[in-house]
Amino acid sequence: MNRKQKNLLIRILVSACFFAPLYLLSEGFLAFTLPPAALFTLFLAPYLLAGHDILRKAWRGLRNRRPFDENFLMVVATIGAIVLGEYAEGAAVMILYQVGELFQSYAVDKSRRNITALMDIRPDYANLETDGGIERVDPDEIPVGSVIVIQPGEKVPLDGVVTEGHSSLNAAALTGESALRNVGPGDEILSGCVNLDGVLKVRTTREFDESTASKILDLVENAVARKSKSETFIARFARVYTPFVCYAALALAILPPLFLTLTRIAPPRWGDWMFRACTFLVISCPCALVISIPLSFFAGIGGASRRGILMKGANYLEALADVRVIAFDKTGTMTKGSFSVTGIHYGVMDDGALLEYAALAECASSHPISKSLQAAHGKPLDRQRVTEIHERGGEGVTADVDGVAVAVGNEKLMTRLGVTYRPCRHAGTILHMSLNGGYGGHIVISDELKEHAADAVRELRKAGVERIVMLTGDAENVAQRVADELGVDDYRAGLLPADKVQCAETLLNECKPGQRFAFVGDGINDAPVLSRADVGIAMGALGSDAAIEAADVVLMDDDPLKIPTAIRIARKCVRIVRENLFFTLTVKAVCLLFAAIGYANMWVAIAADVGVMVLAVLNAMRCLMVDKL
Ligand code: ADP
Ligand code: MG
Repeated sequence: MNRKQKNLLIRILVSACFFAPLYLLSEGFLAFTLPPAALFTLFLAPYLLAGHDILRKAWRGLRNRRPFDENFLMVVATIGAIVLGEYAEGAAVMILYQVGELFQSYAVDKSRRNITALMDIRPDYANLETDGGIERVDPDEIPVGSVIVIQPGEKVPLDGVVTEGHSSLNAAALTGESALRNVGPGDEILSGCVNLDGVLKVRTTREFDESTASKILDLVENAVARKSKSETFIARFARVYTPFVCYAALALAILPPLFLTLTRIAPPRWGDWMFRACTFLVISCPCALVISIPLSFFAGIGGASRRGILMKGANYLEALADVRVIAFDKTGTMTKGSFSVTGIHYGVMDDGALLEYAALAECASSHPISKSLQAAHGKPLDRQRVTEIHERGGEGVTADVDGVAVAVGNEKLMTRLGVTYRPCRHAGTILHMSLNGGYGGHIVISDELKEHAADAVRELRKAGVERIVMLTGDAENVAQRVADELGVDDYRAGLLPADKVQCAETLLNECKPGQRFAFVGDGINDAPVLSRADVGIAMGALGSDAAIEAADVVLMDDDPLKIPTAIRIARKCVRIVRENLFFTLTVKAVCLLFAAIGYANMWVAIAADVGVMVLAVLNAMRCLMVDKL
């Protein structure tokens, strides 16, 4: 509890201690012995003690010409009760209303702290290596290329490359899974991981603001600002609703007695109707919705980020709940994206030299194929030897290596360059090569499915996804094999990035109303599709910028099983929001009806208001509990 909350709690307790005996006595003995003016003064004390800030807020709203909020409702209702001589009710409503306020601020705080504590990846300092030794500095001040030292147990403060030392890192705070990763010289490491056992010297490659930890925190913090449709609906609803109930209450106070006076059917009893109107106001306070709905989304986003699923906004969480059609890309999304070379055929030179040409031509690409070729080549590359690099998404790359025009890619690329290639019947992805316009042979590489890929497809079906399609730039035979192994409904092969957008449009148009379409990609040359889909989900590849930028949802550890998990989390949140809407509106409607016909007193009213709010908030907090989904 923070200081403000503690103060409020003390105020509530003191005024309640004062109020309770006063109330009991006023029902009997005091009512006969004290004049009403004295009773009024006695009850005014707990009323003001508990509610002076509400009075002030209502007054401020009135002065700013935005009077119709919850504070205003409460003030009008309680003052109304007091004017009618129901001092005890007036004071009680104010005290209980404050109990509700305290509870709500505590709940919001708690879920916020819950999330930030578990997302505890913001590094506080870095050990900078200087001439004189090691200096502890703010990570914000460290320029790219500095050498920092990370001791065992410390957080990695900035992204960088290890220059000295071996250790294992725990990335649990980033991915939600505590898988250890062993690192040594030459390995890239990301901020936000925890260094477990060895001392590491690291050359930083990014500034603090650009480092993974800062980016992720920004993302989660900004996510809350992107409102879901339900939230915007509630905000707009409250803006219309509150003035409406105020006027309705006014009508209730005036019209029926006026009618009775004019028609002389029964005595008008103005006081009764006014009291009903006050009760009506207390019941109609919309705080249960105004607070519980944003809280649900906030908690859902927080819960998901703890599991390594970053959602960029409540609107995407909401959309994710309605996803019925999913398309995904193959390489890097469902397959590991680490290819091994399984054969080299028709090579015009020895295999090692051909592989070297391929690796050199690919040296600037971030495609998984490029990474794998460089790994297969296994020796350091001299980038000086390569010029004129052009990467063609979905086809391959062309470059000049030692003055030789090299092209590496699929059949499409060869056709475009007018090179006659030799077909290959081996299973795998075929990388044809041309050297100075002549055919240079081809390299067969193959990839494996990710461990959970097939499970993920099954789980997606269980989570209610009706149509699962694979879109890939790879060749038909590879695509077909992978599609069979995964058990998807459909696949399209040989697509260029632009074709993928077209396929996505088609799938989008085929969605029935209310259904959403999601695309899952690894972020490399998938950015246009990711942004075209209702929800773009990217494999975060722990640091792949393209993915984090283009997508709406980022899976930190590249595990496809996280896709059904994300959908289930979204469903749960949206279900909770609907429950709260339904529950709150029903209870309020029933109570309002009773108040209008005089069957509900102030006690029922405040129970309906605070009680419903507490229940709705407790229900909303369930959105945080997503560990088993
Ligand atoms: P996917 O849709 O499966 O992720 P991509 O669209 O990234 O595949 O690539 C499709 C095909 O284009 C690859 O199978 C490969 O044949 C070729 N290709 C793409 N990028 C490269 C590259 N950097 N080097 C060689 N071939 C490439
Ligand atoms: Mg891809």
